[in-house]
Amino acid sequence: MPTIPVPALEQICADTFERAGSSREEAVRVARSLIGANLTGHDSHGVIRVPRYVDWVKTGDITPNQTVRLIVDTPALAVVDGRYGFGQTVAPEAVRVGVAKCKATGLAAVSLRDAGHIGRIGEWAEMAAAEGLVSIHFVTASGSILVAPFGAAERRLSTAPFSVGIPRDNAEPVILDFATSLVAEGKVMVASQGGKKLPAGALIGPDGELSTDPAELYGPLVEGGPRDSMKGKGAIRAFGEHKGSGLAFMCEILGGSLTGTKATGPGRRFANGMFSIYVDPRRIDPEHVFDADVARYIAYFKSAKPVKGVTEVLVPGESERRMRADRTQNGVPLSDETWEAIKGAARNVGASVPAI
Ligand code: NAD
Repeated sequence: MPTIPVPALEQICADTFERAGSSREEAVRVARSLIGANLTGHDSHGVIRVPRYVDWVKTGDITPNQTVRLIVDTPALAVVDGRYGFGQTVAPEAVRVGVAKCKATGLAAVSLRDAGHIGRIGEWAEMAAAEGLVSIHFVTASGSILVAPFGAAERRLSTAPFSVGIPRDNAEPVILDFATSLVAEGKVMVASQGGKKLPAGALIGPDGELSTDPAELYGPLVEGGPRDSMKGKGAIRAFGEHKGSGLAFMCEILGGSLTGTKATGPGRRFANGMFSIYVDPRRIDPEHVFDADVARYIAYFKSAKPVKGVTEVLVPGESERRMRADRTQNGVPLSDETWEAIKGAARNVGASVPAI
């Protein structure tokens, strides 16, 4: 398992996207965003996606160097059409629109529709938090039907992620960021390749039996063969029983139906839709209690006695921050298969491969 220093990883990923058709600026932005997911420990949304992104450009599913179109533009509300551009290009544009409106009004909502894959949603909450704003994001991965609702043995949902960002004065923000499925699809893929096993009950078969067998998602597994999530008859389960399934439903409705992306369904082209709400704590809190109370509550929350085997109670975003510090310094560990696939994608478009 090679560990790739961040500069070398950025070079091969950015060169690959540039050769595939992106401007240098976009290529570096997409590379940094994917590497950012690896740095925070979310390998399922990191550089493992490079070959798939390059394929999407080739098939026309993603348009490089796209600009967004502002469809609705009122003082507190915007609808931003991502026009199937790279998510790492159109999502930050939508966030910038929301930040500017929120700073002017104290409260803003932005619907981002038809974006290419926007990766780790926490990145967009972090961007708003860096501007001192609270943000809430409901997302659909429309067209990617993978998850069974509570009480069902059949897929009807995407992994529909949700994120909330809380800015702090002179401290790191609090960032909650997760898929509403029990596990991300990337984790099922890792398990199907002999990696870490899935937690009990992560999947459900068409017969309604709980399972940890990746074949439920991909169909009969061939060693080294492709993994197509449309081949399996089972599903990933929504997290949190009826409550998580309900939150996933709302991510589909708000991130999908409300943004114009449309909620997940058969025959749909893949797109992320994101409905975001921005609040300026300085405007809503003229008595300045917010930041001090967040600090007080974090300390109180973390003071809870940990259960056996847990050394510390963590607030959202803490585990990612620690991982980022470690991997930024020591490099990103990749499976042999992932590193070979990235090198293959680079060679296919004529990009250079760094010697590691
Ligand atoms: P996950 O299960 O690792 O959960 C992450 C969340 O749990 C974070 O907020 C983290 O700070 C918190 N957390 C982790 N360990 C903790 C602990 N010990 N104590 C307290 N809190 C803890 O995340 P996931 O569901 O696997 O999602 C992975 C990534 O995939 C996310 O970044 C998500 O946005 C992304 N995603 C994107 C899409 C898309 O379509 N773009 C779809 C699905 C998921």
